[in-house]
Amino acid sequence: MDSDIARALAAVRATLPDGVHLVAVSKFHPAGAVAGAYAAGQRLFGESRVQELAAKVPALPSDIEWHFIGHLQTNKVRQLVGLRPALIESVDSERLLGAIDAESLRAGTVSRVLLQVHVAAEETKFGFSPDELTGYFRSRAFEGLRATHICGLMAMASNTDDTARVEADFARVAALKKQIEAMCPDLRGFDVLSMGMSHDYRLAIAAGATHVRIGTAIFGDRV
Ligand SMILES: *Cc1c(COP(=O)(O)O)cnc(C)c1O
Repeated sequence: MDSDIARALAAVRATLPDGVHLVAVSKFHPAGAVAGAYAAGQRLFGESRVQELAAKVPALPSDIEWHFIGHLQTNKVRQLVGLRPALIESVDSERLLGAIDAESLRAGTVSRVLLQVHVAAEETKFGFSPDELTGYFRSRAFEGLRATHICGLMAMASNTDDTARVEADFARVAALKKQIEAMCPDLRGFDVLSMGMSHDYRLAIAAGATHVRIGTAIFGDRV
Protein backbone atom coordinates (compact mmCIF):
# COMPACT_ATOMS: atom_id res chain seq x y z
CA MET A 1 0.00 0.00 0.00
CA ASP A 2 2.82 2.40 0.90
CA SER A 3 4.51 1.49 -2.36
CA ASP A 4 1.29 2.38 -4.23
CA ILE A 5 1.30 5.78 -2.54
CA ALA A 6 5.00 6.28 -3.26
CA ARG A 7 4.46 5.39 -6.91
CA ALA A 8 1.41 7.66 -7.29
CA LEU A 9 3.20 10.49 -5.53
CA ALA A 10 6.20 10.16 -7.86
CA ALA A 11 3.90 10.12 -10.88
CA VAL A 12 2.15 13.32 -9.75
CA ARG A 13 5.44 15.03 -8.86
CA ALA A 14 6.80 14.24 -12.31
CA THR A 15 4.02 16.39 -13.82
CA LEU A 16 4.70 19.46 -11.64
CA PRO A 17 6.93 22.23 -12.93
CA ASP A 18 9.64 23.57 -10.62
CA GLY A 19 8.22 25.99 -8.11
CA VAL A 20 4.73 24.49 -7.96
CA HIS A 21 4.07 23.15 -4.47
CA LEU A 22 2.17 19.95 -3.90
CA VAL A 23 -0.33 19.86 -1.06
CA ALA A 24 -1.07 16.16 -0.58
CA VAL A 25 -4.72 16.08 0.52
CA SER A 26 -4.97 13.29 3.07
CA LYS A 27 -8.52 13.93 4.35
CA PHE A 28 -10.47 10.73 5.07
CA HIS A 29 -7.29 8.67 4.74
CA PRO A 30 -5.68 7.21 7.86
CA ALA A 31 -2.49 8.49 9.47
CA GLY A 32 -0.74 5.44 8.01
CA ALA A 33 -1.35 6.75 4.51
CA VAL A 34 0.19 10.08 5.48
CA ALA A 35 3.16 8.21 6.96
CA GLY A 36 3.57 6.38 3.64
CA ALA A 37 3.70 9.62 1.70
CA TYR A 38 6.01 11.10 4.34
CA ALA A 39 8.39 8.16 3.90
CA ALA A 40 8.39 8.97 0.19
CA GLY A 41 9.53 12.51 0.98
CA GLN A 42 6.24 14.45 1.10
CA ARG A 43 6.12 17.07 3.86
CA LEU A 44 3.12 19.23 2.95
CA PHE A 45 -0.38 17.84 3.60
CA GLY A 46 -3.92 19.21 3.46
CA GLU A 47 -6.81 18.36 5.77
CA SER A 48 -10.38 19.60 5.66
CA ARG A 49 -11.74 18.82 9.12
CA VAL A 50 -10.42 20.19 12.41
CA GLN A 51 -11.21 16.97 14.28
CA GLU A 52 -9.28 14.85 11.81
CA LEU A 53 -6.33 17.25 11.80
CA ALA A 54 -6.29 17.22 15.61
CA ALA A 55 -5.99 13.43 15.57
CA LYS A 56 -3.25 13.34 12.93
CA VAL A 57 -0.96 16.11 14.17
CA PRO A 58 0.21 14.29 17.33
CA ALA A 59 0.38 10.92 15.52
CA LEU A 60 2.74 12.06 12.78
CA PRO A 61 6.19 13.68 12.49
CA SER A 62 6.42 17.26 13.70
CA ASP A 63 8.14 18.57 10.56
CA ILE A 64 4.96 18.06 8.52
CA GLU A 65 3.44 21.31 7.26
CA TRP A 66 -0.33 21.11 7.56
CA HIS A 67 -2.64 23.20 5.42
CA PHE A 68 -6.26 23.49 6.46
CA ILE A 69 -8.43 23.45 3.33
CA GLY A 70 -12.00 22.79 4.52
CA HIS A 71 -14.90 24.99 5.47
CA LEU A 72 -14.17 26.29 8.96
CA GLN A 73 -16.88 27.05 11.48
CA THR A 74 -16.25 29.91 13.87
CA ASN A 75 -16.64 27.62 16.86
CA LYS A 76 -13.68 25.52 15.63
CA VAL A 77 -11.29 28.44 15.17
CA ARG A 78 -9.77 28.17 18.65
CA GLN A 79 -8.96 24.49 18.22
CA LEU A 80 -7.55 24.99 14.73
CA VAL A 81 -5.32 27.93 15.67
CA GLY A 82 -4.10 25.86 18.62
CA LEU A 83 -2.88 23.22 16.18
CA ARG A 84 -0.67 25.85 14.51
CA PRO A 85 -1.33 24.91 10.88
CA ALA A 86 1.24 26.29 8.45
CA LEU A 87 -1.54 27.83 6.37
CA ILE A 88 -5.33 28.13 6.64
CA GLU A 89 -6.29 28.13 2.96
CA SER A 90 -10.06 28.27 3.26
CA VAL A 91 -10.93 31.61 4.85
CA ASP A 92 -14.27 32.20 3.18
CA SER A 93 -15.68 35.29 4.91
CA GLU A 94 -14.58 38.49 6.60
CA ARG A 95 -16.30 37.32 9.76
CA LEU A 96 -14.19 34.15 9.83
CA LEU A 97 -11.05 36.17 9.14
CA GLY A 98 -11.89 38.38 12.11
CA ALA A 99 -12.39 35.35 14.34
CA ILE A 100 -9.04 33.85 13.28
CA ASP A 101 -7.30 37.16 13.90
CA ALA A 102 -8.82 37.59 17.36
CA GLU A 103 -7.97 34.04 18.36
CA SER A 104 -4.42 34.25 16.97
CA LEU A 105 -3.81 37.43 18.93
CA ARG A 106 -5.17 35.81 22.07
CA ALA A 107 -3.02 32.72 21.54
CA GLY A 108 0.12 34.75 20.89
CA THR A 109 0.66 33.48 17.37
CA VAL A 110 0.42 34.80 13.83
CA SER A 111 -1.81 32.81 11.48
CA ARG A 112 -1.01 32.63 7.79
CA VAL A 113 -4.14 32.42 5.66
CA LEU A 114 -5.46 32.47 2.11
CA LEU A 115 -8.76 34.02 1.18
CA GLN A 116 -11.01 31.58 -0.66
CA VAL A 117 -12.74 33.08 -3.66
CA HIS A 118 -15.86 31.62 -5.19
CA VAL A 119 -15.78 31.51 -8.98
CA ALA A 120 -17.33 28.08 -9.60
CA ALA A 121 -20.74 27.52 -11.11
CA GLU A 122 -21.94 25.56 -8.07
CA GLU A 123 -23.85 27.50 -5.44
CA THR A 124 -22.59 25.20 -2.73
CA LYS A 125 -18.96 26.22 -2.81
CA PHE A 126 -17.84 28.62 -0.12
CA GLY A 127 -15.84 31.78 -0.53
CA PHE A 128 -15.71 35.52 -1.07
CA SER A 129 -17.40 36.60 -4.28
CA PRO A 130 -14.99 38.41 -6.62
CA ASP A 131 -16.71 41.70 -5.72
CA GLU A 132 -16.43 41.05 -1.99
CA LEU A 133 -12.80 40.17 -2.42
CA THR A 134 -11.80 43.28 -4.36
CA GLY A 135 -13.96 45.38 -2.03
CA TYR A 136 -12.09 43.98 0.94
CA PHE A 137 -8.73 45.04 -0.47
CA ARG A 138 -10.00 48.36 -1.85
CA SER A 139 -11.15 49.29 1.65
CA ARG A 140 -7.74 48.19 2.96
CA ALA A 141 -9.52 46.33 5.75
CA PHE A 142 -6.48 44.02 5.98
CA GLU A 143 -4.63 46.84 7.71
CA GLY A 144 -6.79 46.14 10.76
CA LEU A 145 -5.48 42.59 11.14
CA ARG A 146 -3.23 42.22 14.16
CA ALA A 147 -2.16 38.58 14.12
CA THR A 148 -3.03 37.29 10.66
CA HIS A 149 -1.08 37.44 7.43
CA ILE A 150 -2.98 37.07 4.14
CA CYS A 151 -0.62 35.11 1.89
CA GLY A 152 -2.75 34.86 -1.24
CA LEU A 153 -5.85 33.27 -2.71
CA MET A 154 -7.41 29.81 -2.86
CA ALA A 155 -10.14 28.64 -5.22
CA MET A 156 -11.91 25.69 -6.74
CA ALA A 157 -13.04 25.63 -10.34
CA SER A 158 -16.48 24.51 -11.47
CA ASN A 159 -16.97 20.77 -11.23
CA THR A 160 -17.49 20.10 -14.92
CA ASP A 161 -15.95 18.36 -17.92
CA ASP A 162 -16.22 21.66 -19.79
CA THR A 163 -12.52 22.51 -20.02
CA ALA A 164 -13.21 26.04 -21.26
CA ARG A 165 -15.26 26.79 -18.16
CA VAL A 166 -12.57 25.41 -15.83
CA GLU A 167 -9.89 27.43 -17.65
CA ALA A 168 -12.04 30.55 -17.36
CA ASP A 169 -12.51 29.99 -13.62
CA PHE A 170 -8.78 29.63 -13.01
CA ALA A 171 -7.98 32.62 -15.23
CA ARG A 172 -10.47 34.71 -13.28
CA VAL A 173 -8.78 33.88 -9.97
CA ALA A 174 -5.33 34.64 -11.38
CA ALA A 175 -6.64 37.96 -12.70
CA LEU A 176 -8.16 38.80 -9.31
CA LYS A 177 -4.79 38.25 -7.66
CA LYS A 178 -3.13 40.60 -10.16
CA GLN A 179 -5.89 43.17 -9.68
CA ILE A 180 -5.40 43.09 -5.90
CA GLU A 181 -1.64 43.46 -6.30
CA ALA A 182 -2.14 46.47 -8.57
CA MET A 183 -4.63 48.00 -6.15
CA CYS A 184 -2.40 47.42 -3.08
CA PRO A 185 1.21 47.57 -4.32
CA ASP A 186 2.40 47.71 -0.72
CA LEU A 187 0.96 44.24 0.10
CA ARG A 188 3.81 42.00 1.23
CA GLY A 189 3.96 38.24 0.91
CA PHE A 190 0.76 37.94 -1.12
CA ASP A 191 2.31 35.21 -3.26
CA VAL A 192 0.21 32.08 -3.02
CA LEU A 193 -2.30 31.01 -5.64
CA SER A 194 -3.71 27.66 -4.51
CA MET A 195 -5.90 26.06 -7.13
CA GLY A 196 -6.25 22.73 -8.90
CA MET A 197 -7.26 19.27 -7.68
CA SER A 198 -6.64 15.76 -9.02
CA HIS A 199 -8.82 16.17 -12.10
CA ASP A 200 -7.96 19.74 -13.09
CA TYR A 201 -4.57 20.66 -11.65
CA ARG A 202 -2.83 20.79 -15.02
CA LEU A 203 -5.20 23.57 -16.10
CA ALA A 204 -4.61 25.35 -12.80
CA ILE A 205 -0.84 25.26 -13.28
CA ALA A 206 -1.23 26.62 -16.80
CA ALA A 207 -3.17 29.53 -15.27
CA GLY A 208 -0.43 30.26 -12.72
CA ALA A 209 -1.16 28.15 -9.62
CA THR A 210 1.70 28.10 -7.10
CA HIS A 211 0.08 25.34 -5.03
CA VAL A 212 -2.03 22.39 -6.18
CA ARG A 213 -4.13 20.35 -3.73
CA ILE A 214 -4.17 16.73 -4.78
CA GLY A 215 -5.80 13.87 -2.91
CA THR A 216 -7.33 11.11 -5.02
CA ALA A 217 -4.47 10.92 -7.53
CA ILE A 218 -2.08 10.16 -4.64
CA PHE A 219 -4.09 8.28 -2.04
CA GLY A 220 -6.85 6.74 -4.15
CA ASP A 221 -10.56 7.06 -3.47
CA ARG A 222 -11.58 8.35 -0.07
CA VAL A 223 -13.33 5.92 2.28
C1 LIG B 1 -10.69 17.23 -1.18
C2 LIG B 1 -10.14 18.51 -1.66
C3 LIG B 1 -9.12 18.54 -2.62
C4 LIG B 1 -8.52 17.30 -3.27
O1 LIG B 1 -9.42 16.74 -4.16
P1 LIG B 1 -9.00 15.49 -5.06
O2 LIG B 1 -10.04 15.47 -6.14
O3 LIG B 1 -9.07 14.27 -4.18
O4 LIG B 1 -7.64 15.72 -5.58
C5 LIG B 1 -8.61 19.79 -3.00
N1 LIG B 1 -9.10 20.93 -2.46
C6 LIG B 1 -10.08 20.94 -1.55
C7 LIG B 1 -10.56 22.24 -1.02
C8 LIG B 1 -10.64 19.73 -1.12
O5 LIG B 1 -11.62 19.77 -0.21
